[in-house]
Amino acid sequence: MAILQILQYPDERLHTIARKVVQVNDVTRKLVRDMAETMYAAPGVGLAATQVDVHEQVIVVDISETHDQLRVFINPEILRHSGESEGEEGCLSVPGIYEKVRRADHVTVQALDQEGKSFTVQAEGFLAVCIQHEMDHLRGKVFVEYLSQLKQTRLRAKLKKRRREAL
Ligand SMILES: [Zn+2]
Repeated sequence: MAILQILQYPDERLHTIARKVVQVNDVTRKLVRDMAETMYAAPGVGLAATQVDVHEQVIVVDISETHDQLRVFINPEILRHSGESEGEEGCLSVPGIYEKVRRADHVTVQALDQEGKSFTVQAEGFLAVCIQHEMDHLRGKVFVEYLSQLKQTRLRAKLKKRRREAL
């Protein structure tokens, strides 16, 4: 296993649209293992392949405190969504920034598992938020892009300054 490098916003590569996985195979499974290790090490509750510069539709999520309930979604699709709620989100690609985002609070998602088998899951609350957040990455969207232009401009300036200070 390996810990992968996570792209940092506003890296242009985060805007890449991911391809569907054509065949779930050992390469996919290795990617999933590395992504899970990277997510746990960060630590975070979700990671999309886009964030590690692999542009295929793969996401991993684990919202458990014990880090033993890994969920893998390959080629995920939202079949149904309902309700709406606003919650604070963060992202491993935008460290230290937490902002409120409005999303569906119930989603039914269909995806493939690590064996290439199709499954459907009904998610609500925090899990539903995480899945939608990670699926956005596959479409090249970072959660801060839901904010107003003014807020995004301020945020980019803040991140730039922070990066300069870190050098
Ligand atoms: Zn994210």
